[in-house]
Amino acid sequence: MRMLPTIVKNLLSRPATRRYPFKDLREPFPGYRGRISFDPNKCDLCGDCARVCPSAAIEVSLEIGVNREKRQIRYDPFKCIYCGTCVETCLPQAISQDKHYTKPSAVKEVEIINVPL
Ligand code: SF4
Ligand code: SF4
Repeated sequence: MRMLPTIVKNLLSRPATRRYPFKDLREPFPGYRGRISFDPNKCDLCGDCARVCPSAAIEVSLEIGVNREKRQIRYDPFKCIYCGTCVETCLPQAISQDKHYTKPSAVKEVEIINVPL
């Protein structure tokens, strides 16, 4: 019987969580560290972002072969902890972080960014 007030209170109160992403999306708070994006036109493939990333979410590939050249960044948003270290480290400012939430996804996809010559 001691639980009765708590049960009644919970029955009459609103849910404590939001049905994200379907409704009641709230604005990000100031300083929120959201999505990471790369500008391939600014990147010089130095690899600094991959070296400093604490969760190994970035791989930088620079392979020069006889018939092809692979200049690529692979970014795994599911490994990323959104710390912003890569953004602070990238000297050419090829990485940016906005204030938007990363959308949920049913598939764990790695983003591949091809860097032009
Ligand atoms: S994104 Fe920035 S830090 Fe990463 S490889 Fe390109 S230039 Fe270097
Ligand atoms: S925000 Fe942090 S965890 Fe995510 S890719 Fe950049 S350095 Fe790695």
